[in-house]
Amino acid sequence: MFKSSITIMKVSGIPIRLHVSFLLILPFIAYVIASNIAGIAEMASVNVGDLALQPFTLGLLLAMLLFVSVALHELSHSLVARSQGMEIQDITLMLLGGVAQIEDGGMERDEMWMAFAGPLFSLVFGAVLLFLIRPLTMGLGADLALVVYYLGFMNIFLAVFNMIPAFPSDGGRILRSFLARRTSYLEATRIATAIGKGFAVAFALFGFLIGNIILILIAFFIYIGATQEYQANVVKDVFSEFKVSDLMTENVATVEIDSTVAELLERMLHDRHSGYPVVDESGAVVGCVTLGDIRSLPQDVHETARIDEIMSREVISVAPWDDLFSALQKISEADIGRLIVMEDGELVGILTRSDIMKAYRLKAMREERRRIEA
Ligand SMILES: [Zn+2]
Repeated sequence: MFKSSITIMKVSGIPIRLHVSFLLILPFIAYVIASNIAGIAEMASVNVGDLALQPFTLGLLLAMLLFVSVALHELSHSLVARSQGMEIQDITLMLLGGVAQIEDGGMERDEMWMAFAGPLFSLVFGAVLLFLIRPLTMGLGADLALVVYYLGFMNIFLAVFNMIPAFPSDGGRILRSFLARRTSYLEATRIATAIGKGFAVAFALFGFLIGNIILILIAFFIYIGATQEYQANVVKDVFSEFKVSDLMTENVATVEIDSTVAELLERMLHDRHSGYPVVDESGAVVGCVTLGDIRSLPQDVHETARIDEIMSREVISVAPWDDLFSALQKISEADIGRLIVMEDGELVGILTRSDIMKAYRLKAMREERRRIEA
């Protein structure tokens, strides 16, 4: 999903990736830690004079360990998600931490445990560092004591910060799954989103007041994230209500594989269609041809060129009983204009992007009817 990132390793089959923004932020975080090293040393009850490493070296080490902590946090989400049957694409470390790409398991899936797993891990990991490891390392040098302390402190901070119900944060997701037990999933998302945006505004204002750019950035990402998730949920809500058969066009016009491109153009002009399924002599669908395929061909060969020279042989199809949301996903992923609807190997319809968009109107009509009947 995120381009400009590289895979650095795999943990139980899940690729851990580094985004280019991660490489930009790393020295910055190292610098921020280095310039606060005296304060951190004081919190860790370490004497700054006893530190053997340069502040920037310590900062870089801590920044990297911080991202390892974030990766482990995301991994906890991912492993719980996988145990509940969801598929994990990858974990990407970027500007403001990590993002786990978890396949959407449908509307009604309870994400509470998945959301809770990350903060729980961070809390336990932080506590172990502070209360178990730290006493063991006290006598082993100031640098180690400082690293263990700071890492423990930051993991607990990570747990607490993520538990703030600023949707789409972990806490916000937990809140939504609580709300969804009392109301519809979409309504729960709407409420959680509104609360998330409220937090985003508060974070931004507070960030401006104390002059903290990181807080302002976080606020910005929460706001954008909340808006996007809500919109995605609205789309999902509309489209999941329909089947492909509700909106597809039946009695599909097809073209034969051995007709010429000139004949195809003639058909397109006549029917005002810009794409057709292509059938062979036996009537089986063998591909698809669109106006776009013709454009790549010089005009002087239109009379002689046959459709099978320009058509695409990849037939992307759906079944009439598939829900419209999965059809929309297929059409967007393949970036095509139309899907062929097949039932038991037979062509039964065609579904274009504009057919899919009619779902909005159909939904509004259905609701209007419900309102009148009620
Ligand atoms: Zn998390």
